Amino acid sequence: MKIVFATGNPHKLKEIQEIAEGTDIEFILPAEGFDPIENGETFEENSFIKAKEAARVSKMISLADDSGLCVDSLGGEPGIRSARYADSPQARIDKLLKAVEPYENRKAHFACAMTLVDENGKLLYSTVGICNGEIAKKQSGNGGFGYDPIFIVDKTGKTMAELSEYEKNEISHRGIALRNVLEFLKSSD
Ligand code: IMP
Repeated sequence: MKIVFATGNPHKLKEIQEIAEGTDIEFILPAEGFDPIENGETFEENSFIKAKEAARVSKMISLADDSGLCVDSLGGEPGIRSARYADSPQARIDKLLKAVEPYENRKAHFACAMTLVDENGKLLYSTVGICNGEIAKKQSGNGGFGYDPIFIVDKTGKTMAELSEYEKNEISHRGIALRNVLEFLKSSD
């Protein structure tokens, strides 16, 4: 079964395909013209906007995700603004470490909303995956991307960037959300 994955980012598509390995689902990029306006206020809203836009241009069943890092002491920031919190990945890490510095509470979580729509953009299923942890005092590890080097995953004592790709997919917000979607697809076969 072919499903459009609503992203312009081939790296993300590869990650999703890896998590879905062993299923009969093949994820493909949206047709030309995919240009969602992500003006939602929540991860769920933004993933629904992206999924509908992918279905509009591709005329196929489409899945989208929207994700980010929410820090308790910062009232959930950067949240839906995670990608544009500062100008570069390193600047985002530096800004976040500075923002959290005054607080003893370093609890945080990654969230990933996924929304599946049919070829007409009608909602079929939506879910949110959460990965709990805390913000490290300094960055470590070379794996992953984004805020991974400063996110210590609960019960591991390691940053997300110190985990292998396989280990990250097992516990990550994105892995959890996608496995929920795969379960839904299996149950509605
Ligand atoms: P989006 O879901 O593509 O809009 O990405 C949101 C932003 O959240 C990314 O650019 C990263 O900064 C951050 N983010 C989301 N998931 C992860 C993750 O697994 N590791 C590190 N950062 C992440």
